[in-house]
Amino acid sequence: MGQQRTTVWILGDQLSPRWPVWLAEHGLNPGNARLLFIESSAKLRARPWHRHKLILVLSAMRHFMDEMRRVGFQVDHRRAPTFLAALRAHAQEHPDERLVVMRPSTWQGAQFISRLGETLGLPVEVWPNRFFLSSPADLGAARSPLMETFYRKLRRRTGILMEGDQPVGGRWNWDAENRRPPRKDWSPDALPAVPSYAPDAITCEVIAEVARLDTAWGRLDGFALPVTRADALAFYQDFLDRRLPNFGPYQDAMLSGQPWLFHALISPLINIGLLEPLEVCAGAERAWQAGHAPLNSAEGFIRQVIGWREFIYAIYWREMPRLRAMNVLGATRPLPAFYWDAQTDMACLRECVQGVWERGYTHHIQRLMVLCNFALLAGISPQEVNEWFLSTYVDAYDWVVTPNVIGMGLFADGGIVGTKPYAASANYIHKMSNYCAKCRFDPRQRVGPRACPFNALYWDFVARHAERLGANPRTSMAVKTLRRLDRGELAAMRAQAESFLCSYYKK
Ligand code: SF4
Repeated sequence: MGQQRTTVWILGDQLSPRWPVWLAEHGLNPGNARLLFIESSAKLRARPWHRHKLILVLSAMRHFMDEMRRVGFQVDHRRAPTFLAALRAHAQEHPDERLVVMRPSTWQGAQFISRLGETLGLPVEVWPNRFFLSSPADLGAARSPLMETFYRKLRRRTGILMEGDQPVGGRWNWDAENRRPPRKDWSPDALPAVPSYAPDAITCEVIAEVARLDTAWGRLDGFALPVTRADALAFYQDFLDRRLPNFGPYQDAMLSGQPWLFHALISPLINIGLLEPLEVCAGAERAWQAGHAPLNSAEGFIRQVIGWREFIYAIYWREMPRLRAMNVLGATRPLPAFYWDAQTDMACLRECVQGVWERGYTHHIQRLMVLCNFALLAGISPQEVNEWFLSTYVDAYDWVVTPNVIGMGLFADGGIVGTKPYAASANYIHKMSNYCAKCRFDPRQRVGPRACPFNALYWDFVARHAERLGANPRTSMAVKTLRRLDRGELAAMRAQAESFLCSYYKK
């Protein structure tokens, strides 16, 4: 009797060039395995996905299919109303084949897969996910694990930036060097441009299909991301060559009209498997070793990848599904319409939302300290904010968005992901950006028609949550300052916060 043939279902965020090696480890090759790729109409319409996200995933998947065909695999490309309909049709055509799938990165995906064998009535083998370096076990037993402790464990495990058991340069953390505001003498021409990749025939075909999808959101034209492994590597190399040296000091800086500054912009590519976390960290380490980038830049980049990215993934898998529904601050306001249409007088929010519409991307500080900060201060429902980020970003997946929004951004988890709410008045945005210069509001004023709304909202937030914030050593100073405020001024700020928010919901 011959060996049973195998169908391997590869998901749209699992586009790794290593698949032939992984298959060979299980005795699978073009002679005994076919690869299955599914495009589900229900998934494409499940939410108002950013058009660039749809283009990226569909185009990268179709390019990846061609790659796999070139190395000899038979590829089945199915378009169906749902994933289940496609799998049923596939099973009917190939009733004697077993099905293999790598565990999805998201909780909902894993739930679907866990029931699949029973639903389809055929054996389904689930392989461990190979796209991450960590697991919940790496978090230890604490309810609120420290990212720094986790990160050091990952540094030791991977050997990245290590000398024996100690960090190179004698320090684990170079954050103190990495918080510079934008320089006043930067001219747009002096900042490095990000390479763009003109759509080829496959991408053009996908763009035409996405144009017909009436549920999608965001700009259609202007898509310029790499969609193949070769282009992803070249895109990353450009970051190493031209932006990594300045990435560290200016990673928190925000500059009007300059969405990338020195950021790598590789999260959309790592999150679909075209680049690997360890290889991008090794590249940054080599740039430092060659004297091309300073240690604070290389370490700052590596911290984002094997620190924050892996930490967030491990937290997600430890805390789901309860994490998604958490709301310890009792925030219930609906998401204001300007998160969708950018119609606001607040220049910082307008520019960030406009950036999301244009390209499905803003960097991490714009996400945390502008878009999430406003939602945190205003008491907007964490679940609504989470849905917005999941829909609108080109690099969004549940495993990364939910812990970042529910935990880090909105503190709705009560301190599992972060040790304090990232709440800030206008002062932070004024210091770290040039947005305020073109805003109709004044970041220094707290009350009055020109007062920046972030100020009144900030003090209203501290007053609303004084008990919780006062009990946290990292936020107790804000409550002490609140107690010293003039009562009349505080009352005026709280009334201003309320009337400001009412004005948005009346529109
Ligand atoms: Fe944003 Fe306030 Fe600055 Fe305007 S003044 S850009 S609303 S922080």
